[in-house]
Amino acid sequence: MYVVATPLGNLKDITLRALEVLARVDVIAAEDTRHSKRLLDAHGIQTRLVALHKHNEQSAAAQIIRMLEQGEQVALISDAGTPGISDPGTRAVARVREAGFAVVPVPGACAAIAALCVSGFGESGFHFAGFLPARPAARTAAIMALRTAQVPWVLYEAPHRIAACLADLAAVLEPEREIVIAREMTKMFEQIARMPLGQVEAWLVEDPNRLRGEFVLVVDAAPVQEGLSPETKRVLALLVAELPLKSAARLAAEITQAPRNALYEHALALKA
Ligand code: SAM
Repeated sequence: MYVVATPLGNLKDITLRALEVLARVDVIAAEDTRHSKRLLDAHGIQTRLVALHKHNEQSAAAQIIRMLEQGEQVALISDAGTPGISDPGTRAVARVREAGFAVVPVPGACAAIAALCVSGFGESGFHFAGFLPARPAARTAAIMALRTAQVPWVLYEAPHRIAACLADLAAVLEPEREIVIAREMTKMFEQIARMPLGQVEAWLVEDPNRLRGEFVLVVDAAPVQEGLSPETKRVLALLVAELPLKSAARLAAEITQAPRNALYEHALALKA
């Protein structure tokens, strides 16, 4: 089974190999067959489509396995981007692999990577957070948990929740923390804007169209701590009294979220 990435918007954002595979396989399992038919028609591909979406993924996976057992070749696609990335596909992939069939990636567009590569963040890694919870309290808790991440984080958000999500980010994080708002990538109204969170509200008020369409958000890593806080030093001193230095620094990093290297340096100084 081939797992094939399809465009985010611009129908030309599909690889030559993806087109070749989609034209050659016996069946394409698609999240929304009508939506995908437009892409296939645009490229003159007439392969048979079957539905695989979040409500039928188990039974569709069983159907795919039966086809593979009969020697048919199958491609899996989603509405946009890479299947299985905040999209149906992971369960089908697991079932097909369990059944002993090869699962072959045909890589291409992914909204998270598209936004990250124009953000200017993430040289030394990133965290993919996908969709945050829809309920406000749970969303705030999720942002709190991500607040101290040492790498930038990438979020997907549904159009009807983008305003609330941006407001929550601005309420929980430092106003100077930078965010990239990637809207309608590869489409007519594509917009990539980078600004401190403290300016987001004014930027949205300037033009309400800025809230329309599909969004990826990239939030910069937590600011580098200048030195350790007194509370962090207190926790570390307690641990150093009881444990080897490395364990003390590791546990202190888990408890306080301060960088482990800085904690180890301070632990060495304490011991000395
Ligand atoms: N599997 C897809 C991928 O690899 O990119 C993501 C699917 S997820 C259900 C849909 C979300 O991806 C949207 O809510 C939005 O956050 C993001 N997205 C998809 N297309 C986009 C685009 N053209 N511009 C900005 N964000 C997009």
